[in-house]
Parts: sequence; C-alpha cells; structure tokens
Amino acid sequence: MDSEHFGTRAIHGGQHPDPSTGAVMPPIYQTSTYAQSAPGVHQGYEYSRTQNPTRHALERALASIEGGTHGLAFGSGLAAVDACMKLLAPGDEVISTNDLYGGTYRQFVKVYEKYGLKFHFTPMGSVEAVRALVTPKTKMIWVETPTNPMLNIVDIAAMSRIAKEAGAWLVVDNTFATPYLQQPISLGADIVLHSATKYLGGHSDLVLGALVVHEASLAEKLYFIQNATGAVCGPMDSFLALRGIKTLHVRMDRHMENAAELADFLKGHPAVGSVVYPGFEDHPGHAIARAQMRGFGGMISFRVKSDSFADASKVVSAMKVFTLAESLGGVESLSGHPASMTHASIPKEQREASGVTDGLIRLSVGIEDVRDLKADLDAALSLLL
Ligand SMILES: *Cc1c(COP(=O)(O)O)cnc(C)c1O
Repeated sequence: MDSEHFGTRAIHGGQHPDPSTGAVMPPIYQTSTYAQSAPGVHQGYEYSRTQNPTRHALERALASIEGGTHGLAFGSGLAAVDACMKLLAPGDEVISTNDLYGGTYRQFVKVYEKYGLKFHFTPMGSVEAVRALVTPKTKMIWVETPTNPMLNIVDIAAMSRIAKEAGAWLVVDNTFATPYLQQPISLGADIVLHSATKYLGGHSDLVLGALVVHEASLAEKLYFIQNATGAVCGPMDSFLALRGIKTLHVRMDRHMENAAELADFLKGHPAVGSVVYPGFEDHPGHAIARAQMRGFGGMISFRVKSDSFADASKVVSAMKVFTLAESLGGVESLSGHPASMTHASIPKEQREASGVTDGLIRLSVGIEDVRDLKADLDAALSLLL
C-alpha cells in the first residue's frame, strides 16, 4: 500500500481490518494491560504505555504518510519535541530556526539550557550563516518551515547537507506544511515532527504529537525514550488523529484554495499594511516553497496599516466567522495575535526582530465558504478606515 499515491495512503497506509473482528476502523483499545497465558507469553501487547493497538494503527499511518518506516505518537507536539531533546547529552549544541513556535523556544531555553544543552537561533535563509555555527558539538539542526507565524521558508535539502557534514540529526517540524504538501524525509530529514493537534487531527478536538523516522537505530532510541519517559497519547486521541488523517488531502486542498483567495483580497485592502504569504512571488522564500512544497498552505499573516496593537485587537475582536483562538489547522477559521498570544513568551526585542510586531495578525484559514470569510475580514478591517 505504501507505494500508492498520497490520498490512498492517507486512508489505507499501514491499516488493516482488526484481526479479531474484521472491524474496518481500528477499535479504541481502552485498556491499560493485556492477558498473558503464561509469564512472558502474550500477543505482542503487555502494557499500554509500551504498546497499544489503537496507537500502533496511528503510528503506522504516520509513517506511511510521511514516507518513513517508523511513527511514534505522543501526548502533545511538545512531548514529541521533548523526546527529541532526550536524544542529546549535556554539552551538545543545537542550531535552530530563530522564528520558532513559541512553546518549542520556551522548552529549549527554559527547560533544556538548564540541563547543559546549547541552542543557536538563526534565520535559515542563508546556508552559509548556518554552516558558520557548526562546531564539533553540533548534534542537531532544528528546522521549522514554513515558520510560525512569519511563514519563512527554509531549504530542507540544504540543511540536510549541513547536518550530514556535521554528523548531526536534522529534525523538521512539518506541522504547518503537513506531509501532503512537503515530505522532509525525501529531502534528507532524519526526524519529522508534528503537532497533530493542528492539520493532521484537523478538527480542533485533540492534542497530540508525532515523530516519524526512516532509520531503525534512531527509531529504537526514540521508542526507548517514549516508553522510558512515558509521554504517550491515549487510545481515544489516537483514534481521532487517525480519523483526521483520512481527510487530510481533501481538507488541505480547500484550505489552500481559500488562503490563496484571501491573501489576494488582503493585499488589495486599504486597511492592510503588508501580507505575508509564501504563494506571493515577492515572498523571499517563494522559489524554495515552489520547489519543495506541493502548495503554499493555509496560513496567512498580515499587518494592519498602523501596525499597532489597538488596531490589530479591534480587527480580531470584531470578526465573527474567524474565532480568536490559539492553535491552527482545524476546519474552522481562526485568527490569532502572535505578539500577545502564541509568542508572548519570546522577549519583545527578539520577537520584533523576526517580524512579530504588535500589528501582526495570523490567520488559520478554514474550509468554510470563502465568500463568508472574505465578508467577515472586510467588515472587521473596515472599522479601521
Ligand atoms: C502547536 C505547535 C507545536 C506544539 O504542539 P502541541 O500539540 O501544542 O504541544 C509545535 N510546533 C508547531 C509548529 C506548532 O504549531
């Protein structure tokens, strides 16, 4: 099945009817433990932190859609980030995208610096600038692309070459692009990470994280960490994530269609200053996005003309179809104000240097009728004129 096209793998990849009943969808195995017929004699399942059939069904689907060999599911995206950090030892160095998901940045700096890891945050537009940060202690290169919320694009294949020269692992947080649009493993990534809370789940009804790898010894290390530190997801959430994945390609097509139309609309609006959308030819990462992605995704960031908190706040508070909320990637449209919400934990100076100014609004464009989304934006923005 794994040689099939994406839409077929999203539905069937790694799946088979339940062996005990023929159930087409994997049952929610809501059990902590499994009967053994004699000590150590069991059917491959001993205890649900270690193995659970519903989680396994999800993990096989994750491996299939990312073009990897092993998937691992966690209780949240940040738990998956945490498992990656536990591959490292005191003194090791990580080179990371500077324009990073706020919670990942917080974990790196507030949790793992204390344990002796060293992080270098840098824009990854210049390959030479990244290479200049490599030292004999560089063990991991951490890429988010498109980044959150500035939608900067990082050349994954170029980062993979640097990682290989350095003998370091390349981790790509593929949350924004999803495997439908971008396949980091085929571009040289060692580990692909997801907050499945977002597009993979797709319905804003769960919190879940994932890793996918394509190398058995790395998979072994991560399975050990997953079991030894225990941040697994439960069977109900595994089931919901698996159900979400089955419509990923269909949802993404509509997210992208709507986002492209709204980006054009915002660009022409008199109350809008600038619009950040990788689909625009003048976006600095456009050419790389075109080369390494199937499409430009469902996220847009834009600044109100005054770039002030007061005006941005007025717009996000006035919208009715767009809900003001953290998170992204669900079927419903959400708006966010990164400076005061998702990125509040990043120091102001650093935040503004990467473009997250007070007037920046981030949209997660949903799959509603685009005419209603446009009317909603127009009505809110018109309050500023
Ligand atoms: C949300 C998010 C995370 C963290 O995932 P949780 O499921 O919220 O723990 C990591 N990376 C990116 C890009 C995200 O958007």
